[in-house]
Amino acid sequence: MLKLYNTLTKQVEEFVPLNPPNVGMYICGPTVYDYFHIGNARTFIMADIIRRYLEYKGYNVKFVMNLTDIDDKIIKKSIEEKISASEVAGKYSEAFFEDIKRLRIKPATIYPRATENIAEILSMIKSLIENGAAYNVDGNVFYNVGAFKQYGKLSGKKIDELEVGARVEVMEEKQNPLDFALWKKSKEGEPFWKSVWGNGRPGWHIECSAMSCKHLGETFDIHAGGNDLIFPHHENEIAQSEAATKKPFVKYWLHFGFLNINKEKMSKSLGNFFTAREVLAKYSAEAIRLFFAQAHYRGPVDFTSELLDSAEKGLEKLKNLRTTIDLALSKNKPGGTNPEFDFKSFEDRFSEAMDEDFNTPQAIAVIFDFVKEANRTIAEKESIHNNFYITVKNFLGKTADDVLGIISFEEKEVKQDSLLENELIKILIDIRLKAKNEKNFQLADDIRKKLENLGITLKDTKEGTDFFKRD
Ligand SMILES: [Zn+2]
Repeated sequence: MLKLYNTLTKQVEEFVPLNPPNVGMYICGPTVYDYFHIGNARTFIMADIIRRYLEYKGYNVKFVMNLTDIDDKIIKKSIEEKISASEVAGKYSEAFFEDIKRLRIKPATIYPRATENIAEILSMIKSLIENGAAYNVDGNVFYNVGAFKQYGKLSGKKIDELEVGARVEVMEEKQNPLDFALWKKSKEGEPFWKSVWGNGRPGWHIECSAMSCKHLGETFDIHAGGNDLIFPHHENEIAQSEAATKKPFVKYWLHFGFLNINKEKMSKSLGNFFTAREVLAKYSAEAIRLFFAQAHYRGPVDFTSELLDSAEKGLEKLKNLRTTIDLALSKNKPGGTNPEFDFKSFEDRFSEAMDEDFNTPQAIAVIFDFVKEANRTIAEKESIHNNFYITVKNFLGKTADDVLGIISFEEKEVKQDSLLENELIKILIDIRLKAKNEKNFQLADDIRKKLENLGITLKDTKEGTDFFKRD
């Protein structure tokens, strides 16, 4: 039984989807005005692991992630880069898709964009005006926070306390300082869409309400996002959706903790700001994923290069076992014994950990226990039946690869070109052997390391040296 912490009720609850085996999940995606940073990467990776685990449990997940492709920041960037707002959005959307692919994040079922859903946004604003929850002031449409009595139910903030804090701000044409823009009148030279209130563009909050409703229905199962979005963004999404549909918006709200760099808040002014692609230039996607999964998704994470290095090192254990399995299976020897091994208990422990509010640190501990146990079993037996290696591979394939994405078991096609490459590798293996016989260990090690850097792993066995290739 899967349990998860719901920010709305502030309790750990049993997960009961509205329409099993279907699960609707929405996550606030990027505003595409720049490369996304490593804090965003944490949110996207942990949401990906949660989605993959729901699929592992047999749910059919419809995963929706929006792209905010019109916004003040995009307009500002378009002026700086002297290109149109839609070119800025196009450029950084493309970069976003490249980066999430490299981080091994499964593609969403759909990526709705604000500018492609203007009709849905306008129709929701219209309902809000009709329901007395919004008002138009000279082409700007505002949400009337006072009309939604449950405002603050997600963040736990109280309207009167918020008002005191907000009063110092400029009121503009708003009736109440907490009211927020649903439709912004366009200024000279800004991109705009036509509406009954005049030319303008949507506010940020309304796009998530309109697009989640379009793709997941008026009420859906899971809405996720970074902690920093609880207030005001998610609070406003609830206010908009529930005032428009008169139905509960979301059943479970999940929020991801903050990321610090060397115990300091990440910020451009402190010079400790990293984009995901900067981190990907130094570390593998698997190490980044392992590093994040080693912390619980709700807690804070301290990001340091030492911890990333140690994640990369930790992965070696998994990769070594993968090499052992590949080697054994490539030999395809018949016979051998089938050692006693309690696969079921490892599967149970993995699910128990993940069922406990997605306790990935615990799930990873189970995987590394499994690796240790599998290695011990392999070392003890002279000859092992292929079925054992296949079952080891299946377990890691389902947990470490399919759910956590910290190793890949994808089969690689053998290309014709690689025949020549294979012959060249064999020549290097011969030279390495000669070097070893002449006690030139420096050279022998150099050859091994250089091949490793090219993605070719050498494995010395009693019968000689085997090699394996990976990208
Ligand atoms: Zn959102």
